[in-house]
Amino acid sequence: MIYFQSLTRNDLITLLQPLSQIKRSSDMTPDQLEVKAHRQANYRAQQIFHWVYQRHVTEWDEMTDLSKDLRVWLKENIQIFRLSTRQSRQAMDGTHKFLWDLVDGKTIESVIIPSALQEPEQELGQEPEFQKEGNAFAGRPAKETVQSVRWKRLTACISSQVGCAMACKFCLTGIQGLDRHLAVHEIVTQVFELRKQAPITNIVFMGMGEPLHNFENVVKACEILIDQHGLNFSKRKVTISTSGIVPAIESLGKRVDVSLAVSLNGTTDEGRSLIMPVNKKWNIEKLLNACRNYPLGSHRRITFEYVMLQGLNDSLEDAQRLVGLIRGIPSKVNLIPFNEHSGSEFKRPSDQTVRIFQKYLLDRQVTATVRISRGRDILAACGQLRSVFGTARGTEKHLDWGSNQSAV
Ligand code: SAH
Ligand code: SF4
Repeated sequence: MIYFQSLTRNDLITLLQPLSQIKRSSDMTPDQLEVKAHRQANYRAQQIFHWVYQRHVTEWDEMTDLSKDLRVWLKENIQIFRLSTRQSRQAMDGTHKFLWDLVDGKTIESVIIPSALQEPEQELGQEPEFQKEGNAFAGRPAKETVQSVRWKRLTACISSQVGCAMACKFCLTGIQGLDRHLAVHEIVTQVFELRKQAPITNIVFMGMGEPLHNFENVVKACEILIDQHGLNFSKRKVTISTSGIVPAIESLGKRVDVSLAVSLNGTTDEGRSLIMPVNKKWNIEKLLNACRNYPLGSHRRITFEYVMLQGLNDSLEDAQRLVGLIRGIPSKVNLIPFNEHSGSEFKRPSDQTVRIFQKYLLDRQVTATVRISRGRDILAACGQLRSVFGTARGTEKHLDWGSNQSAV
């Protein structure tokens, strides 16, 4: 059995082509026959992609415009994969975290991160469908906090691996170590399931794992995410975030056209190597050269993520070096004040330190935003993700999914 979500549209065409039933007229050459069969398979593949990815139909029998024979063949050969939620929780700010069960008993996490649009008095027009009463994903923050905020963006933050091998010192997933790569269908289906519940607008590979360490599967998943007949996300709205695997950044640019975010997190090799072992292999200079050469296409800018750790990389000298380092690279900086967690001694800098750092950058014409970390009360923020059960190192069996759980 093949999982449907592991197939790009071209893969499906290849599978369907031998099934094409072309009425052969006597004057047709074999080449013409082949072209016709390909055209028919292409058309069928589009229909099937639409049913699954755009209409969320998961039973072959319900795809009424496919022939009976084709439906039988699909039933016998291709399975539409589903992820089941072991748990899901919603934070006070509307962030919604999902813990998925994989078939081998392992778990991964995805998060839906809403970003506020505006208060209702400023907003005219209709209530978005997904916020109406009775919708499975209400998408609302808890009443007592940000009562009637509406969402401009719904970003799905998805995982690419169970755990992560990169061992960044400040990251909970890094502490867990790598358990295994996710298969293409496991990556795509996170989005598929979230999309069934909410009108996701953006995808970021910022959940568990280093996406470029699972290169082929992530590239293929991206192809399905941006296929206009598939999940149909615009290239600019799919972002791969990497800790800096330089050869993979170089290959990525040649393989698939999505946005790139790079976790810089330090301004000297000494400091960066201390918190990110990957820097010992590919230092800042190599990393930034790969960024300079990255074909930016329609995305225009690379995002440099910069986790701010008190006393380690939050000084004005760091800000000054940062400006120098990224000069000439079309980019923006996303400052992420460290999210504290029990697995690490690092501290989050004060809000004032973050503001001063940001202002230094802004004053020098560097676009710099501060990420408001969402979902911190349910450990759904950056670097707070890890599977709850059966961790790679086997030491941490439980983490606080706490009492405030809701089944989806
Ligand atoms: N492995 C990829 C993507 C997942 S991590 C990467 O490293 O880029 C996503 C982002 O979360 C990275 O920028 C990482 O530096 C940041 N991060 C990890 N742990 C964090 C923490 N505890 N607080 C704030 N940001 C963190
Ligand atoms: Fe892996 Fe990214 Fe965490 Fe580093 S920050 S350990 S690369 S998930």
